[in-house]
Amino acid sequence: MLIRTKSTQKLSTPRLFLRAMALAWQAHPPLAALSVVLIFLSAAISPVQVWIFKLMIDNLTALMGQEQVNWQVLLMPMALYLIIWMISQAAESIEGQVRELMALRVRSHMQGIVYQKAASLDIAFYETPAFYNQLELVRTGSYRVQSLVHQLAATVRRTITLVALLFLLGQINLWFPLILIFVSLPHLTLQPHFARQKANLYINRVPEQRMMDYIGWLLSDRDAVKEIRLFQIQDYLLDRYRRARERLFSHFAKIALSQEKTTLLLTLLYLAGAVTIWVLTGLQTLAGTISLGNVVLAFQTVERIQAGFLFVGSAGGYVAEHTVYLNALFEFLDLPPDAVPDTLAHAPETAGVAADLSGPIEFKHVSFRYPGTEKLVLNDISFTIQPGEKVALVGENGSGKTTLIKLLTLLYDPIEGAVTIAGRNLRQVDPQMYYQQIGVIFQDFVQYRLTAKENVGFGNLAEIENMARIRKAAEMSGATELIERLPHQYETVLSRYFEDGQDLSGGEWQKIALARAFMRDVPLLILDEPTAALDAYAENAVYQRFAELTQGRTTVFVTHRLSSVRQAEKILVLKEGRLIEIGNHDELMTLGGEYADMFKLQAERYQSPNS
Ligand code: ADP
Repeated sequence: MLIRTKSTQKLSTPRLFLRAMALAWQAHPPLAALSVVLIFLSAAISPVQVWIFKLMIDNLTALMGQEQVNWQVLLMPMALYLIIWMISQAAESIEGQVRELMALRVRSHMQGIVYQKAASLDIAFYETPAFYNQLELVRTGSYRVQSLVHQLAATVRRTITLVALLFLLGQINLWFPLILIFVSLPHLTLQPHFARQKANLYINRVPEQRMMDYIGWLLSDRDAVKEIRLFQIQDYLLDRYRRARERLFSHFAKIALSQEKTTLLLTLLYLAGAVTIWVLTGLQTLAGTISLGNVVLAFQTVERIQAGFLFVGSAGGYVAEHTVYLNALFEFLDLPPDAVPDTLAHAPETAGVAADLSGPIEFKHVSFRYPGTEKLVLNDISFTIQPGEKVALVGENGSGKTTLIKLLTLLYDPIEGAVTIAGRNLRQVDPQMYYQQIGVIFQDFVQYRLTAKENVGFGNLAEIENMARIRKAAEMSGATELIERLPHQYETVLSRYFEDGQDLSGGEWQKIALARAFMRDVPLLILDEPTAALDAYAENAVYQRFAELTQGRTTVFVTHRLSSVRQAEKILVLKEGRLIEIGNHDELMTLGGEYADMFKLQAERYQSPNS
């Protein structure tokens, strides 16, 4: 289910632990160091307490019946006990605070790493459900690094205590610790087994969980809610949600039940071990072979040892559970950027190589299919765009126009052929530098629920505080009027999702998106359906000024409105992934092919019946 490639392998458990610890350490070294000190401190406290208690009892027994009471011998252990008791209280409280702080640190450190990784991956990953399953696991599991380290530390701490207590008990009778180890072993192995079962169950259900989350989102999303109410499908969706949830619960409940049954049996087994020790201690006491202090020690240790084994068992369970998730996390972090077949990551050696946009852009026998699909979406496409040329891409829905733009914007690489700029293969160009040289607006541009200023300014982050520049971009796209009408003008949040926000219509959004593209003084402008949501007046206004807006820039634009295509110096007509016609408006009309047919059809539609 997860994305696996030859280079992503499962880590061995010790290496996984080490990696988790290293990550926790990186999150905040001083806090991590403090945790280590506290762990060893608290580990030592419990056995020392038990030992001092025994000392107190033995001293008391020795002093009983004596005329001269040696107060020093009597009170010293008591004072020591008190001091240690206070230290243990302080250590426990400090440890709680440190743990909480560490949890926050490690969690945000891990989230940063995960989002950074997600952002570095080839866009092709985002086309596969397997990627989203993995992302879901990783995103929701970022706290597990801290949790694993905490559980490991707690296990070490308790194990040290346990060993010391077993040692103390062994002083009375060597068989006693052996009996307790024997009755506790099944517990130590079974708890992790159940935890792994639960973790695997959850991992296998991630796709269903994602569907549940999606339904939850649908039921609470403002835009979806309108339609869901009108079609009255909320009960259907709720029912689907409930059924998925019940399935998940019933599987979990099954495991939990069998875990509880086993735990009960194991508790009885431990009890039998404890009773054996108590009886033997009683017999030894009656026979006078052990001191009263040792009797107290035996009773105290048996109980503490049981609590210790229970703790180590359940901590082992958590460790096993986290291990399953962290394997998924590390697999994700180790994904090579080009792990999805059919795509090529951009080689690191492209760093610093800019495209020379004063040269022509050429598509040379370019073919492309989406990862994991069969159909050739672009089939042997060849054409040239001269610097400064205005090029329109036209064709039916699904003919490959947006895909062609995705290749031109380096979101995908061709599976055959090459895209070159001034003779240099686009694959050899540094994507980050290239993105600074181009302005792109996709059909499905992002509507940031942020201020109007940010929505426009994101087109050129360096100029986001330059209001004159932002106003100019808004002016160019015709967005000035609508922004001036907003309650806080450029500072208005463009969504009622947030307080004081304001919603925009589709056409208004498009003006904002266009303004974003105009924030850049770039040599190459790429516009995918830049005016589809505009009304006829607004569209006309944009195209009236098109020459001015695109002056001196190479411009590639996709459009369905053929009336606006006349402005293009070159028109590329795509059909089912092939480039079938190429030329300017007049040439293509004279040709009388697909373009001429489409143009006539649209012209007829716009003609009034009595004109
Ligand atoms: P146009 O922009 O001309 O409408 P597109 O380039 O969006 O066409 O799509 C061309 C073809 O590629 C369509 O058949 C579409 O179904 C397919 N397609 C688009 N995006 C994806 C994708 N992410 N994964 C698989 N197929 C896709």
